[in-house]
Order: sequence, then C-alpha cells, then structure tokens
Amino acid sequence: MASITRELNEHMQRDTAVLLYSNAISGITISAIASTLLVFSFDDPVTNFFQVSWWCVMITLLGLRMFDAIWWKKKLQHTQFDGKKAIKHFVLGVNPTGVMWAIYLVYMSNNNIGIELTTTVIAVASLAGGATSILAAHKPTAIFYSFILLAPGSISLLMSGAFEFELLGVLGLSFCIVMILISSKAANFTRQTLFLKNENVTLVQQMEEKVKQRTQKIYELSNLDPLTGLYNRAAFLSHLKSTIETSNEKFALLFIDLDEFKKINDTIGHKAGDQILKESAGRLNQNDKDSQLVCRWGGDEFLIALRNADEKTAVEKSLQLIEQLSTPHNFENSLLTVGATIGIALYPEHAETEESLIQAADMAMYFQKKQARSTVGVFSETMEKLYSHELHLKNGLTKASENQQLRIVFQPLVSADSYKPVAFEALLRWKINGEEITPDEFISIAEQYGLIHEIGSWVLKNACLEASTWGRKIQLPVCVNVSVIQFIEDDFINIIEDALSTSNLPASLLHIEITESVFSADTATILKQVKCLQTRGVKVSIDDFGTGYSSLSAMQDLGVNMVKIDRSFVQNIHGNGRAIISAVMDIASSLDFLVVAEGVENEHQAKELAKLGVDFLQGYYFSKPLEVEDIAHFIKQHQ
Ligand code: C2E
Ligand code: MG
Ligand code: MG
Repeated sequence: MASITRELNEHMQRDTAVLLYSNAISGITISAIASTLLVFSFDDPVTNFFQVSWWCVMITLLGLRMFDAIWWKKKLQHTQFDGKKAIKHFVLGVNPTGVMWAIYLVYMSNNNIGIELTTTVIAVASLAGGATSILAAHKPTAIFYSFILLAPGSISLLMSGAFEFELLGVLGLSFCIVMILISSKAANFTRQTLFLKNENVTLVQQMEEKVKQRTQKIYELSNLDPLTGLYNRAAFLSHLKSTIETSNEKFALLFIDLDEFKKINDTIGHKAGDQILKESAGRLNQNDKDSQLVCRWGGDEFLIALRNADEKTAVEKSLQLIEQLSTPHNFENSLLTVGATIGIALYPEHAETEESLIQAADMAMYFQKKQARSTVGVFSETMEKLYSHELHLKNGLTKASENQQLRIVFQPLVSADSYKPVAFEALLRWKINGEEITPDEFISIAEQYGLIHEIGSWVLKNACLEASTWGRKIQLPVCVNVSVIQFIEDDFINIIEDALSTSNLPASLLHIEITESVFSADTATILKQVKCLQTRGVKVSIDDFGTGYSSLSAMQDLGVNMVKIDRSFVQNIHGNGRAIISAVMDIASSLDFLVVAEGVENEHQAKELAKLGVDFLQGYYFSKPLEVEDIAHFIKQHQ
C-alpha cells in the first residue's frame, strides 16, 4: 500500500512539473517582452537608472529560467525524471521573478505619478491574471505569485496620499484577493484532475502487476514441479523437443536416480524425504543454467540435458553430481545420506527423439544400478538387447505356470556324520521353448516385476504337496526358498497356511529359507513374520549366509532355526573360508541354531566341514537337485 501511494505521488509530481514547464517558455517570453516595453517605452530621467538596472537583473533571471526550461524539455521531458526536484527548480526561478515585479511596482508607485505608473499597474495586473492558469499546477507558487505581484505595489499606492492612486491601490488589492482565490481554485481543480488521471494509471499498473503475477503462477503450475521448483515432465519434454528441432547441437541426457531414498522415506518419513528431494534439486540446479536443463522426472528421478556435451564431459559431470548428491543432508539434527546412480544417453548417437533418448538414459541407469549403486553408466546397444531379453522373460514368466513350464526339483541335505538325507530343498525350474532359464536370472525378474508373489505361492503349494508324499515312516522336511518381498507381504502367513492345509503336511516339515538380504529390510516386520511362522511350528533358515549384510544383533533377535553357509566359503575352505565357517560355528553354539554348508562338491570338503562341526551338508557331491520321480529311489537307497 505504501509503495502504491509513493508511486502515485511520484506520478503526480512529474505531471505537475510537466504542466509548469510546458507553459514556462511562453510565460518567460511574455515577462521579457513586458519588462522591456515598460522600461524602454517611457523616458523619465528620475527612474531611468533604476529601470535599466532592474531590467538587467530581470533579463538575466529570465535568461536563466529560459535555459532551465529548455534543458528540461530536451533532457528530462520524456524520462522518469525526479518530479520533486524539477518543481523545486521551477519554483526557484518563478518566485524571484514575482519579487522582481513587486520591487518594480513598489519603486514606480513611489517615484512616478504619470501614465507610466498606470501602464505598469495594468501590465503587472495582466501578468498576475495570466499566472493563475500558468501556475495552476503548483498551488503555493500560484498564490504567492498573485500576492507578490499585486499586494506590495497596491499597498504602496494606498499610501501614496494621492486620491486617484489610493483608488488604484484599492482596486489593485481587490484584484489581488480575487486573483488569489482564482489561483487557489484553479490549483485545486488542476490537482484533482492530475490525481484522477494518475489514480487510473496506478490502478491500471496495479492490475497489470496482478495479471503478471497470475501469469507467473499459471506458468509455475503448468511447468514447474511444486516441491522442487524444477521443470516438470511436460515442460522438460517440450524444451527438449524444441532443442532437438531448432538446433543441430549434440547434447547428453543424464538420468539420475537417488539410491536408498525409498528407505529414508519409508523409515524416517515423508518430511525427511521431501527435504532430501528439495536439497538434491538445489544441488542439481546450482550450475550454469544456460548449459543445462534440469527436471524432476518423478519420485526420486531427475533428468539433466547437458548442452554441447560429449561422453567424456557427461561422465565427468555425472561423477561430480554423484559426489554432490551424496553429501549428507542435515535433518532434525541427524545426518541422512542418499546416493545417486546416473545413466547417460547421447544425442544424436543413441537416440534421435526426446522420448527414446530418455528411455535410453533410463535403461543405462537401470543396468548400472544392478551392477553397482552410486556409479555412472553410458547407454550401449547391448543394454537394449539385454533389456528386450528381460522383457521377453518377464512376458514368458507371466504365463509360465499357466503354460505348465514350471517344475520343482529337490536337492537333498544330508547329515554331516552319516550322509543320510535329512531334508530336501525345493528349487524352481523354468523351461521355455526347450531352454532352461536359471533361477538366478528369472527370480530377480519375477521380483522386479511383482510376479514373485504368484510364482512363490505356486512353489510353496507344490513343494508341500510333493513333500507330503515322501512316505509315512521317514518324514523328511522340505526347505522352500522365499524372496524377501514375498516374505514381508501381509498375506504371506495365509499362503503358508493354505499350502499346509491343502497338502496335509505337518508344519514342522516345512522350512522357509530367506536370504541374508532380510537384514536390509524393515527388521520389525521380518521379526514379526519369523515369530508368526515359528509359533505355527514352521522353521526358518537364513540362506547364503556370509554374502550380505549380516548383523549379529539382528541374528540374535530373529532366533532363526538354521543358517546355510554360502557355497563360496565352502569352495574357499583352504583360504578365508575356514575362518568364517569356524566363526559361524561359534555363533551357532551361542545363539543355538543349526548349520548347513552349501555347495559341497567333494569328499575332502565334506570331511573338513564335518570336522568344523557343521550339522548338515548339501551339494553335488551328495546329489544334484533331483526330479520328482527320482526322489523315492534316492530316499530308499540312502536309508
Ligand atoms: P540357493 O537357495 O542357495 O540354492 C542353492 C543353489 O546352489 C541351487 O542353485 C543349487 O542347484 C546350487 N547348488 C547346490 N549344490 C551345488 C554344488 O555343489 N555346486 C554348485 N556349483 N552349485 C550347487 P539353483 O537351483 O540354480 O538356484 C539358485 C538360487 O535361486 C537359489 O539359491 C535360490 O536363492 C533361488 N531360488 C531357487 N528356487 C527358488 C524359489 O522357488 N523361490 C525363490 N525365491 N528363490 C529360488
Ligand atoms: Mg536356498
Ligand atoms: Mg544358498
């Protein structure tokens, strides 16, 4: 509000100055003509000297004013000049002119009694009359000018003692009062007109400002991501499209995906997540804005188009960005860290349209993340092949159980002392168009595309059904591998119960194997599920122990029944493997779980493991995974 009033004042002052100066040249000219005629038309030796001296001063003053008026016209008239200062200049010229006229009239009324005095009175009165409109823009000056021109002279005439001049004095004073009133009214009117005019201008300006703000808001809503202020998808795509269409320059597209962001969002909360996204956006956006276009693509994904960048520059820049993004964030007095994996695609080498370029960069990021997080990968055609193979597998996997392409094989676990089978591990097999796909390849695809739930349930049901046929006398448990994402699902316990009730398999004959990666998931949920299974009598094993994030305290809390030492340690039993296996045996005795060694391929390994106290052994040395029809024979042979 204050700024509006100030602006209005500034406009008014400038307009006042314009009105004053626009009449200045004619006003000065009239004063110059009047003073010259009055001084030189009459020849009175008594007053001549004063008149000529007065004229010299007056003409100098008028000359200075003329110079000021011309300077204002040439230099300031059409600019945003300082109105207050210009008015001051003007007034400083006008008021002395008035004083000069007053001096002239007073002097003449005292020293002349002829026609010259009467002429002077008429001339000065006319000048005062003209001034009411010429000076109307500035009330104090208009009033002062009328007053100073007429009042002192009229008073002097009143005191002259001659009746006719006293009469002239009375007339002069009356005229002065009328002129003051007229000046005051004209000034009020002019001021009001200027006010209305400028009020409208200010209102229009205010409206224009509002329209500008609204337009900006609409632009932001449709082009910017509200959380980070970066371009949104639509705006980025259209900018990228026009870059491709209008310039021939090459550029690199960086697909940036934050690592471990979801974990922070899920465990610490969305407030922390939002702060990290905002700060990451700021870090991405802090560089030269002309050379890059930054966008929040969605969730924790960002895109940067780097102008004029080749592969080398793009990789260097990406490494820098990873470093910047990995700097910890300060959230409520604790430090939170996320990483970033970046995929790069180059225009025009890798793709020629904005969509396919983004797809290529996304693919590069995706494959890079699988290999190693917080690193940079550049798109290559092999990726495209791998990706289409992956999609082919994913599509095949969707219908695998319906097309009866899935089967389960069973690998025995034997006692380390007697080599007699103590359980069988169910291992899934998938054959598509005559080709066996390894579980290492298809299980991860099933996990990524959310197919693991259906496939996992199928395995559980069929493994339990099969195990329930393994004879009444010798009842052997079945170990079923379960992915972590399947394990933490709410309905997992129901699926287990279904599998047990349809197969009539006692719960004690079912062992669930979860990999060590459970320790990186939400431990509270894992603990809850483990306890739930154990209270029902189902046993739980940790698979591939030693390859991932083991946490002894989590192991203690979980209270698993069995730990399966990974094949890599067995194979390395003469190196570091032995120390690790002995360490596991120590923990096993204090935490009270059984130990299985996986991947036993020869007699020597079997003996060494038995010596170390391992309870059970599993591996090709005893048996490869068996087809269903061979199990009965195997059991019979080894009892
Ligand atoms: P795992 O649970 O550790 O299974 C053991 C793997 O080691 C099996 O591979 C088995 O064939 C192999 N193996 C056993 N003995 C030896 C040996 O002496 N030498 C060598 N070199 N390998 C041996 P497979 O069947 O290829 O399964 C690989 C992984 O796939 C499994 O590792 C398991 O994590 C996963 N998997 C298999 N079936 C399922 C399933 O139904 N569900 C889930 N979620 N994962 C499964
Ligand atoms: Mg296993
Ligand atoms: Mg294993």
